[in-house]
Amino acid sequence: MRIEHGGQSYEPEYLIDGTIMRVSLDEALGAEDGSLSLSMDFAFQIPEYGADRMGQFDAAAGTVFQLAQWYPRMFVFDDVNGWNVMPYLGQGEYYLEYGTFDVNVTVPREMIVAATGTLENPGEVLTAEQRQRLDEARTSDDPVTIIGRGEAGEAGTRPDGSGPLTWQFHAEEVRDFSWAASESFIWDAARAETGDGNPALVQSFYPEEGIGSGPAKGRNAGWEHSTEYVQHSIEHYSERWDAPYPYPTATNVAGIVAGMEYPMIAFCSVESRGPSLFGVTDHEFGHEWFPMVVGSDERRHAWMDEGINTFINQYSTLAYYDQSPAQVRQSFRAAVREGAIDRAADRPILTYSDRIPYDQLGFLAYNKPAAGLFLLREYVLGAERFDAAFQSYYDRWAYRHPQPADFFRTIEDVTGEDLDWFWRGWFFSNDRIDQALTNVSTSGDTTRVQVAQQAGLPMPVELRIERDDGSAATRRLPVEAFFSEDTYTAVVPGDAERVVIDPRGYLPDVDMDDNAWSDGAGIRAPGGSQ
Ligand SMILES: [Zn+2]
Repeated sequence: MRIEHGGQSYEPEYLIDGTIMRVSLDEALGAEDGSLSLSMDFAFQIPEYGADRMGQFDAAAGTVFQLAQWYPRMFVFDDVNGWNVMPYLGQGEYYLEYGTFDVNVTVPREMIVAATGTLENPGEVLTAEQRQRLDEARTSDDPVTIIGRGEAGEAGTRPDGSGPLTWQFHAEEVRDFSWAASESFIWDAARAETGDGNPALVQSFYPEEGIGSGPAKGRNAGWEHSTEYVQHSIEHYSERWDAPYPYPTATNVAGIVAGMEYPMIAFCSVESRGPSLFGVTDHEFGHEWFPMVVGSDERRHAWMDEGINTFINQYSTLAYYDQSPAQVRQSFRAAVREGAIDRAADRPILTYSDRIPYDQLGFLAYNKPAAGLFLLREYVLGAERFDAAFQSYYDRWAYRHPQPADFFRTIEDVTGEDLDWFWRGWFFSNDRIDQALTNVSTSGDTTRVQVAQQAGLPMPVELRIERDDGSAATRRLPVEAFFSEDTYTAVVPGDAERVVIDPRGYLPDVDMDDNAWSDGAGIRAPGGSQ
């Protein structure tokens, strides 16, 4: 190991403890614009299967190697914790600093390499035919074959000569660098519009084993449709949240890894087909926005990338399959009610990533935070206010390191709404929602509806009041009506026949048995919507 610093070159003392290395500098590095260079030799054993983050898939035409977390890297130094010295533990991913990468990958000549960044020396590692096809792909909406099914692994796919080849990649403003290599890769590519005039090159690398059958939206679609999926994800997220994909490439690689995200590159299962291949691809490329651009601390706060990503994935999936938003509403409500009622997840979302029991990870890091943001957008704030705030969060924290409070503060700041009650109930605690009708009475031409919030998390109340003359009205009670008392009595004109809480079916109310009232039958469960 060598350090070059302030004109000096020396071999520093260092200490290795597990996966952590501390390097002792002879002279402190200045806080303002201080810089030094550190060089070291290291070796890395590629695992057969590395905790679903990397590994090897034995394709018939040659092993697919997917490499990640393969080089020593700096911990993040931030203004909240100082040095974030946290060894990698598997659950709870990474907290990484941004930088520029120039990486030379030297592999046997037969291998094709996919990586974070742009390929800097196509003239040395691709044939003239492949370079011409790649140029065509850069301006094509339809996938262009770079290496076809019959070509993968053939000698003609490699430049003339002998000995290994070095593939050179360059990437800027990224927090990691991953790559894959195989003799078995089929390769296709297309253009994705990002909305800022800089289209991205979207690509897929997969062995023959990844190929399925039928149309892209069918059940058996395979990796031959991966590039279309990546194209949809890049274009959808860029446009939907007014956040143009900032990188030049987006590459999906089929292999042993079920689904894992890295800057500009994702590893997804070679065996995935149809909606599950679309789903995993769309999820991993949603991560390009969170946490690849908005560099949250995944090591502590899994929800800040997984939950926010799961939230935006729902809209992307709806758009791709042209589904109705009611499906998202119902599945989120069911998931949160289930988690809340059986107390499967009795910890708050803000539990540190590595302290969440494995069987609660899907709920606490993915579904519950996503459902919370969905409720905020669709039920509490409305799309117009939420979207402006959410986009501001992205803009303000791109290439930086937001804490949970930075997210909460940005949403409140831009919407102009105090949402402390919601953050506390949904994120900081595991409070439930339990709205109830506790008394309904009619007198003359007036109906009095008493509503109670019987669990820890109050929410705005929506009431549908159906009158005996056949007319109906919707009344919304602000959450502030329940800040000092658990009950509130709404006085509505007309002689009510029937009253229902949450008629649109958004809230994961843990007890629905008291959410409706009808003249004669009294307080009961709303029919058919439990
Ligand atoms: Zn994820």
